[in-house]
Amino acid sequence: MTTIENNMSSQNFLRRIIEEDINSGKLDKRLWSGIPGPNSLQKNINKIDSSSIRTRFPPEPNGYLHIGHAKSICINFGLAEQYNGSCHLRFDDTNPDKENNEYVESIIEAVKWLGFKWSSDNQNNLYFASDYFNYMYEFAEELIKNNYAYIDEQNENEIKDNRGTLTNPGIESPWRNRPSDESLILFRKMRNQEYPNGSLVLRAKIDMKSPNINMRDPVMYRIRHSSHHRTGSQWCIYPMYSWAHPVEDALEGITHSICTLEFEDQRPLYDWFLEKLKEIGIFEDPLPHQYEFSRLNLSYVVTSKRKLLTLVKEGYVDGWDDPRLPTIFGLRRRGYTPRSIRLFCERISVSKSDSLIDYSVLEQALRDDLDMIATRAIAILNPLKLIIANYPDDHSEICYAPINHHDKNLGYRNFSFHKELWIDKDDFQEEPQKNYFRLFPGNLVRLKYGYIVRCTGYKKDNDGNIIEVYAEYLPDTKSGTDGANKIKVKGTITWLSSTEAKEVTINLYEHLFNRPVPDNEGSNFINYINPNSKKTIRALLEPNTINRDIKTWQFERLGYFIMDKDSTNENIIINRIVTLKDSYIRN
Ligand code: ATP
Ligand code: MG
Repeated sequence: MTTIENNMSSQNFLRRIIEEDINSGKLDKRLWSGIPGPNSLQKNINKIDSSSIRTRFPPEPNGYLHIGHAKSICINFGLAEQYNGSCHLRFDDTNPDKENNEYVESIIEAVKWLGFKWSSDNQNNLYFASDYFNYMYEFAEELIKNNYAYIDEQNENEIKDNRGTLTNPGIESPWRNRPSDESLILFRKMRNQEYPNGSLVLRAKIDMKSPNINMRDPVMYRIRHSSHHRTGSQWCIYPMYSWAHPVEDALEGITHSICTLEFEDQRPLYDWFLEKLKEIGIFEDPLPHQYEFSRLNLSYVVTSKRKLLTLVKEGYVDGWDDPRLPTIFGLRRRGYTPRSIRLFCERISVSKSDSLIDYSVLEQALRDDLDMIATRAIAILNPLKLIIANYPDDHSEICYAPINHHDKNLGYRNFSFHKELWIDKDDFQEEPQKNYFRLFPGNLVRLKYGYIVRCTGYKKDNDGNIIEVYAEYLPDTKSGTDGANKIKVKGTITWLSSTEAKEVTINLYEHLFNRPVPDNEGSNFINYINPNSKKTIRALLEPNTINRDIKTWQFERLGYFIMDKDSTNENIIINRIVTLKDSYIRN
């Protein structure tokens, strides 16, 4: 695992950029007081930043985090960790309508669970963009005064119509050249609740003919009489993302502002705002820089917050932490470990090309994380009775099995062998198909950790279902004894004693969708929901498996399983995380 991680490290283009920046010395003299603020504030305290770089993870608190966010979290927090830097957790809460505190708390919990920290050097780098509303407003006034921004009275449609297209330049607003004093007065009135929604906007004055449409006098502020989850009704004007984001980054001394590729065309605007603020003296070099990577697309899931909300709100799944969802809480409940998610993010690496990552890559990361550490146990999912005809009725013997065969120091578990056992229905065939080496009449198999048995017959009910299988055991062949290797058999099967096996509920999950890209080209993802994505069965479990401390197991030959959070002593509920192999063929 470590070798894989090490091999990947050289391939990541962000690491190359950061190493160059650190080595060039251009980040050395940055000031950071521990408090976000403009140049003047940082100069006042005049402390060189002890962090080599600053990155940030900036979620909008309008939904639960998903596996795509995990990629961004691993990149931003991971880079900071690797280079002795700091990563800020910043809530990008500049849009009052869809944000709330429930989401804020869930995001904090999710990032913590993934194992990342935002405090370093006694500083708690947890920030809210809404705390910067005053700065954003003040700096906007400065841009107006310097004739870099103006108040436009065109309505939303006019602005849209006059923006032009990729082939046609835009048309300048009739208000574009109004005196900056006039814009300043209107901007102050806008802030003072004197205008209704949509009547005025503040726009940057850049270039209506720019080939990059983002540079055609983008809107910086709009009027929205809404209550904000933190600032209440203090503001009725709210900054647009493209204005707010560079300001947030610069206030926090971010060196590398890493985002997804869809923001690539916004980079010139990001730089334009920061250059103007530098010119005015609000910030100074080195300014933050934006770098883009391709977002994670994972097969068989949807990762847009809006689509996830539909699945939850319309009852297609059982809440935000449904084990079939790719939300961080869904993955946690399913049994994914923080390490497996981090390993997955490391393996898919960071690049600028879009690709669809197969879900099996995530599953393999989980197996690789748990294989070495998971406690083993036996479970029988489709029980069929096996009677050992020549074994004494009231007799029993203890069998030993390693807790984890990779590490014998962990010791052994034990369970007993009896006359009446449970085996899995799949482990018996009346007439064996080709290459079937498990139980069938006349065949010898090893009962794992127990004896070799020869199948002597079976019984059917009136409907033709096999209800009992009979066998004889070979007394000298018990695992762990001298005779164990005397006879070679091709098949080994798992079993439980009928007197000991514990009945539990197991949820068997499959993909939530039955096509790899359920939301391809605007198709309605709801149409591709897999009706068999959750199957609940009663199953049998090795005795003594349930103990207070261990919640995740490998059930031998079956896969990885976890105790569900709704499990109780009376009704034990276990989720299957993943099978042992993609297409596991048991011989
Ligand atoms: P959604 O489309 O699900 O609503 P979003 O991009 O609007 O996602 P934000 O809260 O704004 O969600 O995202 C926070 C950070 O996570 C951003 O930097 C964003 O680029 C990143 N991010 C979101 N989705 C993905 C993804 N699929 N892969 C990688 N990074 C992502
Ligand atoms: Mg967003």
